[in-house]
Amino acid sequence: MNTGDRAGGNAEVLLEGSLICPGIAIGTAHWIDIDLEFKPLDIAPSLIEAEQQRYTAAVSETMHRLHDHVATTHGVSHTEIRAIFDIHQAILADDSFHDKVRDRIAGEKKSAEWCLQEEGSSLISKFAAMRDPYLKDRSEDIRDMTQNLADVLFGGKGKSGLGDKKQGVMLSRHLNSSDVILAQRSHQCGFVSESRALVSHAAILLKGFGIPSLGGVAGLCDAAHEEDPIIVDGYKGVVIVRPSSPTLEAYRKRMKSAEVFTPVPDLAGCVTAEGIRISLKANIENPEQIKLMRDRGLDGVGLLRTEYLISAEGRMPTEDEQYTAYRHIIENAAGKLVTIRTFDIGGDKPMGLADRCTGRNPSLGLRGIRRHLMMHPEELRMQLKAVLRAAAGYKVGILIPMVTTVNDIMEVKHHMASVYNDLGEEDAAFSNNALLGAMIETPAAAAIIRDILSEVDFISIGTNDLLQYFMAADRDNERVLHYNDAASPAFLWLLEQILMQARRSGRECDVTMCGEVAADIRVLPHLLRMGYRSFSISPMLSAVFRDACMKYGLKD
Ligand code: PEP
Ligand code: MG
Repeated sequence: MNTGDRAGGNAEVLLEGSLICPGIAIGTAHWIDIDLEFKPLDIAPSLIEAEQQRYTAAVSETMHRLHDHVATTHGVSHTEIRAIFDIHQAILADDSFHDKVRDRIAGEKKSAEWCLQEEGSSLISKFAAMRDPYLKDRSEDIRDMTQNLADVLFGGKGKSGLGDKKQGVMLSRHLNSSDVILAQRSHQCGFVSESRALVSHAAILLKGFGIPSLGGVAGLCDAAHEEDPIIVDGYKGVVIVRPSSPTLEAYRKRMKSAEVFTPVPDLAGCVTAEGIRISLKANIENPEQIKLMRDRGLDGVGLLRTEYLISAEGRMPTEDEQYTAYRHIIENAAGKLVTIRTFDIGGDKPMGLADRCTGRNPSLGLRGIRRHLMMHPEELRMQLKAVLRAAAGYKVGILIPMVTTVNDIMEVKHHMASVYNDLGEEDAAFSNNALLGAMIETPAAAAIIRDILSEVDFISIGTNDLLQYFMAADRDNERVLHYNDAASPAFLWLLEQILMQARRSGRECDVTMCGEVAADIRVLPHLLRMGYRSFSISPMLSAVFRDACMKYGLKD
């Protein structure tokens, strides 16, 4: 975080970034990254006990702040949010870790801050070196909590101090889910990050919360200082640090204009500059977002990510819990089609104990439908049953993630037939005309579109994963993200091949694209020219998408 001298004086600085969630935010900059570094300060033997007590008091204070924070977060309903707080609480409650810090204070006669830093680093590296992706990811949580604890010891307010900084714009070098949740809970009006992990879970959460945000903002660290006035323009993809008075005035006026804040329901739907009708649906990952789908006049839910139903510890929801959740969404979808994806566990979505998809490379292992078919077919049958029961009287789509072969689909159909059979023997109402769809996320599936289409009702292209598998570059790995360029000729070629295959089968109308690429205005004109006419994106991006369709249409 930059707290030092101003490199560029007080002049206005404009930085470019990539859109995560559109909107405009004007506020004060608050760096969330706590990067404290402590020197090994000696402690006199007579003060050791007091130093240990100071550490113990800081642990209680940090725990207390965490509880306070959870208590003031108006009904922590989101599983993801609960999960992160639970993990942080569990780390803070781990006495064996605190004993090691206290022993180190006594043994090395050094300050509590330094001993915590040393113990924390060693634990972080142990977790970071683990193969299990779930445990590996916990290293970030340990870093988060040790930094918070260190900040309390040092007399700071920790990350929870953000609660006092309403209407701030949160700045970070990273894209951590816990920071995004904190931004939402502490009413931050914007989020800016240097990280380019634009399809990370944190980025998906930012869209879900509707926080105007940008990622990939190079130079943020050097340009923006704590408490600087800052503007986030999520329409133009720019951040303005220390805006001049005319700039500030111009943005205040824009903010007042209804266009920015009120999502205008476009009941006429979405059309291109040439007047071609485009179907636009919503990708949603929690039940609250169904309202956004309706308010924005979208054509239904193109992708319901159901993983939010899995608890922090990895407990899978029961059939009845699933039934209630799906029924609520279907009944609130204004009669529009809701497409429900079966649990996509593994890879970038580690789900605690529910995810034992280890192996050298979890993204290439038992994730998505592979995990269901090879490890938990009973779980797949339960989910299918819950969806079909919830869809009684409605039409729904069931979407299968991570399909690689036609055989994957045949096996799902086999399970589906047995579920229909069971339902027929029971007394419960259910839908017997659900549509079955395959997500096209692997290059192998992209190569056999005609064979896949002959077995399913529709396909949905998951470009977030298709891009990473096609480019052989992890979607969450900062160091190779530049390979994941959806506008690259290679990837555009692949997308065109997919549609051409569907066209040859006379099934173009059964192709939807549900990856975030659809909202990338560099790529959209290419997609429209190729003939793509159906998209599903985060509802927060619908206005930007509609504008781009109208403005650019099939032109470059
Ligand atoms: C995708 O992979 O493009 C997709 C829509 O699914 P998710 O981002 O949930 O993996
Ligand atoms: Mg995917």
